[in-house]
Amino acid sequence: MRPCSIDDCTTSAAPRRTVCHKHRTRLNRYGDADFTQWTVADDMDVKLLIEQQRVPDGATRLERRLIAVGLSERGLSAERVADIVAVAPRTVHRWRAKTRQTAA
Ligand SMILES: [Zn+2]
Repeated sequence: MRPCSIDDCTTSAAPRRTVCHKHRTRLNRYGDADFTQWTVADDMDVKLLIEQQRVPDGATRLERRLIAVGLSERGLSAERVADIVAVAPRTVHRWRAKTRQTAA
C-alpha cells in the first residue's frame, strides 16, 4: 500500500489513487485537500472543557486539539485523552509531539 500523497497524512492511499479516502472526499467536496475544521477556538470554552474533561459534539478540530493538549498536561494518558476528545490515540501522540516541538 502506498501512503497518501498529502503531507503529514499517514493513511494508505485508496486503491488506484494517490490520496486516501478522507482526502479524496475533501477534494471532491471542497476542492481543497487541506480543508479542515480548523477554525478559531474560544479560549474560555477550551479552559472550561479541559476542566470538565469533555468535548461537545460540535467542537472543531482545533478545539479538540487544544483540549487534548490541556488534558495531557494534566497527566491523563493518551488513551484516556483520545477517548474524551474522540480521536485515535495516535492522533493524541502526534498532537503532543507537535506541541512539544512548538514549545521548544
Ligand atoms: Zn490522506
